[in-house]
Amino acid sequence: MSDQNNNNIDEINGNANTENNDKKEPEYEDVCFMCRRPESKAGKMFHLPNGICVCDDCMHKTMDTVSQFDYQNLLNNPTLMNELNKHTGMPGLSFMDFSNFQGTGGIPNSQKIKKKKEEPEVKPELSIENIPAPHKIKAKLDDYVIGQEQAKKIISVAVYNHYKRVTTGTMDDIEIEKSNILMIGPTGSGKTYLVKTLARLLDVPLAITDATSLTEAGYIGDDIESVVSKLLAAAGNDIDKAQQGIIFIDEIDKIAKKKNTTSRDVSGESVQQGMLKLLEGADVEVPVGASSKNAMVPMATVNTRNILFICGGAFPDLDEIIKQRLNKQTSIGFDADLKDKWDKDPDLITKVTVDDLKKFGMIPEFLGRLPIICTLKGLSKDMLIQILKEPKNAILKQYQKLLALDEVKLDFNDDALEAIAEKALEKDTGARALRAIIEEFMLDIMYEIPKDENIGHVTITGDYIRGKGGPQIEIRHDVMQ
Ligand code: ADP
Repeated sequence: MSDQNNNNIDEINGNANTENNDKKEPEYEDVCFMCRRPESKAGKMFHLPNGICVCDDCMHKTMDTVSQFDYQNLLNNPTLMNELNKHTGMPGLSFMDFSNFQGTGGIPNSQKIKKKKEEPEVKPELSIENIPAPHKIKAKLDDYVIGQEQAKKIISVAVYNHYKRVTTGTMDDIEIEKSNILMIGPTGSGKTYLVKTLARLLDVPLAITDATSLTEAGYIGDDIESVVSKLLAAAGNDIDKAQQGIIFIDEIDKIAKKKNTTSRDVSGESVQQGMLKLLEGADVEVPVGASSKNAMVPMATVNTRNILFICGGAFPDLDEIIKQRLNKQTSIGFDADLKDKWDKDPDLITKVTVDDLKKFGMIPEFLGRLPIICTLKGLSKDMLIQILKEPKNAILKQYQKLLALDEVKLDFNDDALEAIAEKALEKDTGARALRAIIEEFMLDIMYEIPKDENIGHVTITGDYIRGKGGPQIEIRHDVMQ
């Protein structure tokens, strides 16, 4: 092992693929058995028996320590060695006798970092290397996400700009101006779904975290940096891939500044403070293959500069703040009589400003790092009906396909769709309620239909959904003849 290798970590990184460890585990980097640093950080490893690797630094330190003892050829004297072992508190463990580690199997793969893959990968629907124009991104989103036109448009442009900057390498000049997004919309309106669809189309890793579980470092809960660790795991421990991924932080409204509190606000304002660095772009040391840092887990450095952060939340009561502001504006001058003008405006949330969000409890620095704000509307009855039948993977299509396997045709008449949508609206959880409602009555259908081979066509009616009758069942034509 030459000393040059120590000086240039990058060089070692590149060479690591081709050297001796290729034969055993070409996919993963080796991790030092002693300091737990991966090969890309610690430099080239010494390979010892039983799959154990030790980095150059640790090997040297060990040698130095030993050479201090070895002034009387101690290592070659078995009696003295036994004495030494007694003093080091490791009975039976003679120096560098790695047979003692047998059965430990070295470090598990889940804690190692994947090496860069060289084979070309399958092309995703949209490629970030050659990012298509915003209207094409939106057209792809349209296949899956119903309505929310404005949000889809804003996100398509933001994603286009973000990956354009990332792939052309101009991100460095405009660190803070990256297109992190704040998404505001009621529960079940498709915030998470939109982000998930986007990540899948672009084939970038996605980590979804709940802001409520985050706390300031050192307190009970997840460290803020754990989100990056999650992303690394989603990228299969591939650092390069993770650095171009998307992090979605849900329930961001729950980390608003706590009002009237005397104790330290470890899960609110402090979390916002702690996230500033991440949103802007920083080197973060994260544990590989585990969610918390401890001595036994190797660490990797992930740079968040090119990671797209999307924060989402329902922001309840935000409409009250907007209403107050708008009322204040209109109560001056001739419009003063229009005080309740905004009370029934369904699109009130689209009028949100940064000041409203500050009033809600988000700190200005945090908002400054989420320059793009988009709002999603609560889903109407018509939108719910569309969601049932139109997306590429619509719930109804899924059930139709399932029954088609039994050669049974499944239909829902318009009245049935309306009845399902009405039931979902009552639950007030947006589109999330749809699946639960359908599953409830489809259970009977899925149970009964396969009993009778003569059934060829089932039509679900509104009466059936409302509990006033059964579904329409038709017998197979070939049976009737
Ligand atoms: P939230 O806004 O609370 O994050 P989700 O994105 O989790 O809501 O939505 C729940 C489910 O509802 C999704 O998995 C998706 O199937 C469906 N859904 C919600 N909104 C839409 C939409 N606009 N188009 C299609 N499906 C939707």
